[in-house]
This record gives sequence, structure tokens and C-alpha cells, in this order.
Amino acid sequence: MRRPTLVAPPLVRDHVAGGDRSTRALIDLDAFEGNVRLIRDLVRPGTDVMAVVKANAYGHGAVPISRAALRAGANSLAVATVDEAAVLRDAGIADPIALLGAIDLSEATRALRLGLEVTVGSVELLDALAAAARVVPLPKPAAVHLKVDTGMRRYGVLPEEAVALARRIDRDPLLDLAGVCTHFSSADDIEERPAIEQAVRFDRCLATLREAGIAPFRAHVANSAAALRSRRFDYDLVRPGIALYGLPPSRDIPLPLGIRPVMSIRSRVARVVPLAAGDTVGYGRTYAAERQEHAVLVPIGYGDGYRRGLSGLGWVGIAGRRAPVRGRISMDQTVVSVPDGVAARVGDDVVVLDGDPQWGAPDATTLADLLGTIPYEVVTGIAARVPRHYLRGGALDAVVVPGAGKVGRSHDPDPL
Ligand SMILES: *Cc1c(COP(=O)(O)O)cnc(C)c1O
Repeated sequence: MRRPTLVAPPLVRDHVAGGDRSTRALIDLDAFEGNVRLIRDLVRPGTDVMAVVKANAYGHGAVPISRAALRAGANSLAVATVDEAAVLRDAGIADPIALLGAIDLSEATRALRLGLEVTVGSVELLDALAAAARVVPLPKPAAVHLKVDTGMRRYGVLPEEAVALARRIDRDPLLDLAGVCTHFSSADDIEERPAIEQAVRFDRCLATLREAGIAPFRAHVANSAAALRSRRFDYDLVRPGIALYGLPPSRDIPLPLGIRPVMSIRSRVARVVPLAAGDTVGYGRTYAAERQEHAVLVPIGYGDGYRRGLSGLGWVGIAGRRAPVRGRISMDQTVVSVPDGVAARVGDDVVVLDGDPQWGAPDATTLADLLGTIPYEVVTGIAARVPRHYLRGGALDAVVVPGAGKVGRSHDPDPL
């Protein structure tokens, strides 16, 4: 396994490209592609993989991650909003893209223009879609997925409404019933029974659709947790998200061997902050040093998604050791205390988040536990202003600042 090495950058670089802030997210594309292949090999042969890349690919960067997913064998992509899909189409991605949830009725036309597979979970959206299909020139009938609510009580029609809606889609010459799907409320729970009960309800619904003579479609239910726990939930395609990013859906669902975390957050020491006994640190003076401390400033804060809730709780890794956060996390800056015996200086590497404990930093699940949330929210919350550095073969492949459009390296105008 190749890990990105922490090498000191040369002091003078060609800064045409930008994205050279010390605080950055390293995104290991080899790890991501390995995870896609691992999930593809895990499911039953013939089961398609729809890679879920919503919310800017869980903070990892939608375009490079989508390309990597397709390269590694994903059959299609899934996003949450029409705007997210438009970003992928603008980047030239022509592969199938499904919208997982509700869209505004007014967006039906744009969704069809972009060639998206809309998931219908209400009669109203089906009405809007059928009307839009009569306005937008379509090269072929628009692919539609019918979402059935088998217990989540979120998006989807009830099983008893499914036949009527499926029939309408099936009979509309401008629409194509590509899929029928449902979503589990607690596939990541240690207790498997609720997921099994939902799957049984879904099976009954599928049987009714078949009895009603609805044309063949693809059935799908599995998020990462379901795909990791049992082949019972494969159906015709799986929709993994979090596992592709190398993160476990919950503490109860261990990741299979070989799945690797994709994101690491790095920074560099910006200033040495001498602390004498009695000195307080930061806003509100919430921390007072009891003795002399070697503290340093890290240019990361809640404006980067390094959440303020980690004040006094979190730590970063410096020289492989834990350096605890002192005082409050500001919008752009955080002070940490360097352990005795480590002589941290300006420019030294700081590891803020990493899946490998050797760096002394917490992983996404640990940060999530500290914050009372889940790793999904930790990585999705990494702000747009944090440059994403894409690694391939352990080397820098491209830099993207989501908040500033794509930033290519000066020697390579279109690296991805
Ligand atoms: C987000 C989402 C997924 C992926 O879930 P993970 O837990 O990240 O694997 C699958 N299906 C639907 C409908 C979703 O909204």
C-alpha cells in the first residue's frame, strides 16, 4: 500500500495555478478506485454498481471522483440535486446519472434536458415529468426510477400506490421504467431485522408489479451498509456511497479488509505561539495554560469545516504525536499544544484527519464521535475553500479549489 509521504515543499514554487494553501485535503484516487473495485467484486456477478457522488462526492470533489468511479468500473452515478448533476454534465461526463431524491417540480424539464434518471416518489413529480417529456426533445424515452417507501417514511410512494404509478410510467411512450427502488432506515444497525422486514415488503411489492404485467425493470435497495452486510440486498444494482470513500457506515458495520480511507486533511504550522503559565488562548479565554507550553498556530478553522465543537476536545497529529486543541477554534485558525519533546517549527506538517493512526491524528469516525455526529457529516462538511489535492501513485495529480473552480497545475492545463 502506497501512502502519500509528507515531504516539505520547496520554498519557491510556480504559483500560477494557486491552491497552495497549507491547509488542504489530500484525496487518494488509487484508494478510491480500489474501493470501487472491491465493492464491485463483493456483490453478486451481474449486479451493477451505482456510485453515489452527491454532496460534492461526500466532500471529496464530484468531478474527479466521478471520473475515477467510472474508470474503476462503476456502471452509473447518483446525485441528490439537478445542479450537482449539471456540474458532471458540464465536465463532459455522459454516463447515466440518477437523481436519488425529490426535486422541485419546476426542475423536471432541466433534469430531462440533462438526460438524468429521475426518481419519482410522488404523483406530483410524475405529472411534472410526463408534462416535461412532451416539451423536451428526447433521443429516447426518459429513464425513471420509482421509489417505494417500505418503512423509511421519507421519499417514496407507499407499496399500495406502486402498481398505479408503475403502470403509468410503463404505458407512457416518452418514459421508461428503468428501476424500482427503496431505501433502508437502519441497514447500519447491529440489528438486521428492520432491514429484512423492509426487504420482504419490497419483495411483495415487486411481486405485485410483476403480476400486474409491468415490463422488466431493475430493482435496487442497497446503500453501503446493506451491500457490506449481505448478498440478500444486492437485487439488480447497489448504491454505495460512504464505503467508496473508505469510511464505515457505522461502528456496527466493519469495513471489509482492503477498503482504504480516501481523504486526509493536512496543514502546516503557521506560527509558534509561546504560552506561559496563566496565558489564555483565543476567543472567550476558555483555556488557561497551567505551565509553560509549546503551542503552535494551525491555519484551519470552522470556515474550513474544522468544527468549532472540537474546541478543547480535538487534537491534530504533529510528528506522529497527538497535539490537543487549546481554547476555541476560530473561523480560520486553531491553536494546538505540541507534546513535550517535539520541536515544531513554522512550516512543519500538521495532520488534521487521517485514517492511518501513524500520523497521530483522529480519523473521520473519531472526529464524528467527538462531535456527536457521523463520519458522513465530517467529510461532507469540509468547506469549498479547502483545496483538494488529488494523488495518484503517491504523487500529486491535480489540485482543485471547489470554491474557485478548477485549478490545474501550471505544467498540465487539464490534469483530470
Ligand atoms: C445517500 C444514499 C445512498 C448511499 O448511502 P451510503 O450510506 O453513503 O452508502 C444510497 N441510496 C440513497 C437513496 C441515498 O440517498
